[in-house]
Amino acid sequence: KPAPNDLRAFWMPFTANRQFKSAPRMLVASKDMHYTTSDGRQVLDGTAGLWCCNAGHCRPRITEAVQAQVGELDYAPAFQMGHPLAFELANRLVDIAPDGMEHVFYCNSGSEAVDTALKIALAYHRARGDAARTRLIGRERGYHGVGFGGISVGGIVNNRRHFGTLLAGVDHMPHTHLPENVFTKGQPEHGANLADELERIVALHGAETIAAVIVEPMAGSTGVLMPPKGYLEKLRAITKKHGILLIFDEVITGFGRLGSPFAAQHFGVVPDMITCAKGLTNGVIPMGAVLASAQIHDAFMQGPEHIIELFHGYTYSGNPISCAAAIATLDTYAEEGLLTRAAGLETYWQEAIHSLRDHPNVVDIRNMGLIGAVELSPIDGQPGKRGFDMFVKAFEAGILIRVTGDIIAMSPPLIISEAQIDELIGTLGDVLKTA
Ligand code: PMP
Repeated sequence: KPAPNDLRAFWMPFTANRQFKSAPRMLVASKDMHYTTSDGRQVLDGTAGLWCCNAGHCRPRITEAVQAQVGELDYAPAFQMGHPLAFELANRLVDIAPDGMEHVFYCNSGSEAVDTALKIALAYHRARGDAARTRLIGRERGYHGVGFGGISVGGIVNNRRHFGTLLAGVDHMPHTHLPENVFTKGQPEHGANLADELERIVALHGAETIAAVIVEPMAGSTGVLMPPKGYLEKLRAITKKHGILLIFDEVITGFGRLGSPFAAQHFGVVPDMITCAKGLTNGVIPMGAVLASAQIHDAFMQGPEHIIELFHGYTYSGNPISCAAAIATLDTYAEEGLLTRAAGLETYWQEAIHSLRDHPNVVDIRNMGLIGAVELSPIDGQPGKRGFDMFVKAFEAGILIRVTGDIIAMSPPLIISEAQIDELIGTLGDVLKTA
């Protein structure tokens, strides 16, 4: 039997602790913008946990709501009568969602939200007598979680090549990150014609075989890749023309990251479904959701009656504790103006992050709202080594960043102050001098 301090039993493929040579670094407490480490240091959170703690850490209103709910109604079977908070939360979400998103399907994570949306898309066409529409289209470098649906439409070959045949009938559009997209502030100009690749795929298979297109409006996990101007608008126009559903995966961009509640509002493009998770409960407890248009929902209904049941749902769909956390999170966002705060800080953030441009081995910087990436050139023959080295040094220097390969990504909690932006970028600048 392992000793209590033996680290081998916990199987997490990507934990940085696997690669630290010395004692493991763990996080033992958190408050507002900071983590406390197991060796008693304060670390400024430059990534909102894993893009989820948008209101900062251990916010009393959210903590207290969860504590109260655990003592009041711990669980209510979602497939039976439900409970008031599930109805209240759905209305609150519809209230802040883009016009046209009128229904909410609950799940427990971003991955589940993606698989849920894909299943709704396929069932929707069937419900309308269009059962031949089964193909799905994703995008290279898209990240849609780790479910079988998500890795099939996801654009990371490494994430899907070990797992057999996956979903049949999936195509991937080219990604939006072009080489000339260098040191661009905000949305790059080029590339609405990238969306024409969708027309090419549609022509190849025939529109009547295609169910849905899924994209992150701004790809987060694979390196913070900005959509070129006009790109999302064009995807919307093409999908609408061909009766194909458009799904925005807003697991990262949802809940204020770009300065609007959802990226759909930021870009002025309304899809047919939006997946969300992470910031929905401020990272406190797992929860995901799919927001859907009335047209989609009503395909399963005749008046108030279901004509076709959607055979889908989870034990923990809309459970009371997650709903209580989500409602308290939305209250916090509203009271503190956090869903639009990134818009006000965008210029400050942009100037700060672009000040790193002349540091050694920096080859690109990208930003939007309160998200940004600093891309480094890889060390010859050792992709990801420089990035990981920066991650370790940054953590030692007192800031938490995220690296994906040699790309440093930052998405601080939306409560960050200008002085803390200076501290985050200043410390990263010091670290980058050694890159
Ligand atoms: N979609 C996107 C866009 C994501 O960024 C993520 C997580 N980073 C997911 C889906 C998966 O979410 P989860 O890890 O909660 O399953």
